[in-house]
Amino acid sequence: MPRFWPILMLLAPAVAAAAELPIVDAHIHYSHDAWSVVPPKDAVAILKKAGVKRALVSSSDDEGTQKLLAEAPDLVIPELRPYRRRGDQGSWMRDDSVIAYLEERLAKSRYVAIGEFHLSGADADLPVPRKTVALARQHRLMLHAHSDADAVERIFRQDPDARILWAHAGFESPARVREMLRKYKTLWADLAFRTDYASGNKVAPAWREVFLEFPDRFMVGTDTYTPDRWSFVVEHAAKARGWLADLPPDVAERIAWKNGETVLGGAYAARP
Ligand SMILES: [Zn+2]
Repeated sequence: MPRFWPILMLLAPAVAAAAELPIVDAHIHYSHDAWSVVPPKDAVAILKKAGVKRALVSSSDDEGTQKLLAEAPDLVIPELRPYRRRGDQGSWMRDDSVIAYLEERLAKSRYVAIGEFHLSGADADLPVPRKTVALARQHRLMLHAHSDADAVERIFRQDPDARILWAHAGFESPARVREMLRKYKTLWADLAFRTDYASGNKVAPAWREVFLEFPDRFMVGTDTYTPDRWSFVVEHAAKARGWLADLPPDVAERIAWKNGETVLGGAYAARP
């Protein structure tokens, strides 16, 4: 038997690669402080090594997204963040200059969404977020909202036809997420930067119910919100394959990549 070991070892990586579930990563940032740490070529190499076939990418400011898009146009699905610097996250909703920035960028480049932005509760009804929602409507873009359920509902009141990708599923409970998905047909959720949906490779029962009821509404994501999070992209994809294997294969495929490809890839391809 031992003499067969080297052959088995040679075959193992090929078998693993063939069985590897592709990933569409719906939560990648490539902000101004990431380029020098992870240059575009290296960032693309990391995504490819992770088996990421498409990635929804945004950055503060937009230059990072454009750099990565130029490096890998088939891989990157660009979205426009209303931030020019990392610190804008807490102030953008009261900063009128954000709208001029968005308009300037939207005139120059194609995107699938505006986001990811941070917005909670009643702040969603401030003038700048309202104008942002109106811009998305005008340009037929999705909104990628890091928001509680309250802010998501306020956005839908402003535009009942909005298409929202709910970042981190709002860090809300599975019961609340299910309620929201039942209420809003054009709400999808990414599962980035939360771990409660699975313990090891075992999907939590409450989440399993929601995944099985709404297999078309979830996507996975790494959330590279700081440069060092880029070192986690490969591990995130591997972990995702681990817990997704606990779901029926067709549901796992949808959450891993098909929903991202259909919803994000499809909407981007349809952009004029
Ligand atoms: Zn994020």
